[in-house]
Amino acid sequence: DTPVISNFIRNIIDADLSAGKHQSIVTRFPPEPNGYLHVGHAKSICLNFGLVQAENPYPGVCNLRFDDTNPEKESDEYARSIAEDVKWMGFEWNGDIRHASDYFPQLFQFAVELIQKGLAYVCELNAEEMRAYRGSLTEPGKNSPYRDRSVEENLDLFTRMKNGEFPDGSKTLRLKIDMSSGNVNLRDPVIYRIRRAHHIRTGDDWCIYPMYDYTHCISDALEGITHSLCTLEFEDHRPLYDWVLDNISIDCHPRQYEFSRLELLYALTSKRKLNQLVTEGIVSGWDDPRMPTISGMRRRGYSPEGIRLFAQRCGISKSENVIDYSVLEGAVREKLEAEAPRVMAVLDPIKVTLTNYDEAVTASRSAPFHPHHPEFGEREVPISRQIWIEQDDFAEVPPPKWQRLTAGGEVRLRYSYVIKCEEVIKDASGKVIELKCSIDHDTLGQNPVGRKVKGVIHWVSAEHAIEADVRLYDRLFSVPRPDAVRGEDGEYVDFKQFINPNSLTTVTAYVESCVLAAEPEMRYQFERLGYFCTDRYEHVADKKPIFNRTVTLKDSWAK
Ligand code: ATP
Ligand code: MG
Ligand code: MG
Repeated sequence: DTPVISNFIRNIIDADLSAGKHQSIVTRFPPEPNGYLHVGHAKSICLNFGLVQAENPYPGVCNLRFDDTNPEKESDEYARSIAEDVKWMGFEWNGDIRHASDYFPQLFQFAVELIQKGLAYVCELNAEEMRAYRGSLTEPGKNSPYRDRSVEENLDLFTRMKNGEFPDGSKTLRLKIDMSSGNVNLRDPVIYRIRRAHHIRTGDDWCIYPMYDYTHCISDALEGITHSLCTLEFEDHRPLYDWVLDNISIDCHPRQYEFSRLELLYALTSKRKLNQLVTEGIVSGWDDPRMPTISGMRRRGYSPEGIRLFAQRCGISKSENVIDYSVLEGAVREKLEAEAPRVMAVLDPIKVTLTNYDEAVTASRSAPFHPHHPEFGEREVPISRQIWIEQDDFAEVPPPKWQRLTAGGEVRLRYSYVIKCEEVIKDASGKVIELKCSIDHDTLGQNPVGRKVKGVIHWVSAEHAIEADVRLYDRLFSVPRPDAVRGEDGEYVDFKQFINPNSLTTVTAYVESCVLAAEPEMRYQFERLGYFCTDRYEHVADKKPIFNRTVTLKDSWAK
C-alpha cells in the first residue's frame, strides 16, 4: 500500500546482496520480556520484519528472540504480550520463537574456550571496586588484581561458579581485553555474574547468567543473523560485539548497524517508566488506551496499518528521531479514513422536538456506511418526533459565519430533512434544554426551494438510538518531554507530575442502533467527531456498547 523508502540500512543490504556476500538476509527482533512493547519497539519491528515482509521485501526471514538474561525482571505475561503484539502488527517470525536462554549451554562453552585461550578470568572485585578500577572517559582503568590467574585456576573457579559453590555477587567472569582502552566497554567487561534467580524458562538450572553484550552477539551468530540492527546507544558496544565473535570458534559473524531511537513527544518510550505508571495505578494497565504501548494503541483503536505508516514516516537514520504525537495521530487517522464505516453519534446531547413530525408523511432514508466504499453497505437512518443533536451545534447568539442551528435558523440533518428552529426552551437558570423545530417535508434528498441551507449536522433519533459509554481519551501528558523537565534545583521533576488531568473523560452518548451488534475492536467514524473503537475487553455485542475515542477528526490539540 505504501512505497518503499530507502534508508542507509537498505543501501547496505542492497550492496551486500549485489556483491554476493549474502543470498538472503536474516534479521531479528530481540526484546527483553521485562515489559510490554511500546511505540519505539514498533519502529524496530517494522524495520526488522518489514525488510523481509513488507512491500518489495528482500529474500530472507526475521527471527523473534527473547533476550531473557535478567531473570528477576522477566515474566511469562510479558513474553506472551510481546508475541501477541508482533502478530497483531501483521508480522510473522521465522520458525519458533527463540530465546537467549536456549543458548545458555553454548554460551557457557564459549566462555570456557575464552578462558582456555587466556582471554577471560574470574574476578573477585565487588561492584564498587570494579567501578573504581574501571576509570572514566578521561582516565584509563587499572588491571584487576585477579587478572593474571592461570588458565587452570580460572577454569576451576568458573566451573565452581556454575556449580553454585559461591555466593551471589562474589565473583564474575570478565574478558581480558584492555583496561586502558578509550572505549570503556572494552575495559575487561563482565560476561557472567552469579545470581540465584528463578528463570521463566530454565528454572533453577543456572545460578550464573551471561551479560547482554556477550549473549547478544553469540545469539545472533548462532541464528545466522546477517544484519543485526539496534539503536544508537549500542554503537560503542559494537567493538565488543566484534571482539567476542572474533575470539571464539564460530563461523558466522553478523554485522551490527545502529539507527536512532524513536522519541515520541507527549509520551514516554521507556519500559521502566511506563511500568511506574502501571504499578502506581496512574493508568489502568499496560494496555490502558492512553499508553504508548502497542497493546494500548490497539485498545485505543489504532490499526496496525496506521502504526506501520507512522513507522515509515519516522524513517530510519542515525539522526535524532524526535516525533510529535500529531504525526502518529495523523497516520492513524489517514488509515482509518478509508477503512472505518461511518455512523452518527451525539456525545453531548440537547433534545430537539420536531413539532410537525407525522408518521404518515415523515420518511427516513438509508445511508451508505462510507461515501467512497459502496461495498460497506447501507443502513436505514430512522427519524422520530424527538431527536438528539450536539449542544455545540446550536447557538442562540451565533458567532459570525455560523452555519449550524440558531434561533429562527435552518440546518440540514445529515441524511434527512432541513429543519427550522421555532422555539428555544430554557430552564430556570437560563440554560437551553430543548429546541422545538419544524421539518420542511420537501427537503428529503433535495434542496429547499428558494433558499440555500448550508449547514449539515449529525443527529440521532431519540426513539431509535442506543446509549453507549464513550471514553474520550486525550494525551496522557501535558508537556512534550515529561521526563526531561528540571526543577529550580536543577534536578529532574518526577514525570508523573505532568499527567494531563483531562486525559480521560467518560460520557454517555446516543449512537445509531446499528452499532449494537458490533464485536469488540470494531472501528467507526462518528461523523464530524472522530474515530471510535469498541473496547477490546469491556464491550459486549448486543449489550450496552463501550467505545474508546481513537482520535478526533482534526488535529485539535491546543498547543
Ligand atoms: P526500554 O528502554 O524501553 O526498556 P529497550 O531497548 O531496553 O527499551 P528491548 O526489549 O531491549 O528494549 O528492545 C528490543 C528492540 O527494540 C531493541 O533492538 C531496541 O533497540 C528496540 N527499541 C527499543 N526502544 C526503541 C525506540 N525507542 N526506538 C527504536 N527502537 C527501539
Ligand atoms: Mg534492551
Ligand atoms: Mg531496557
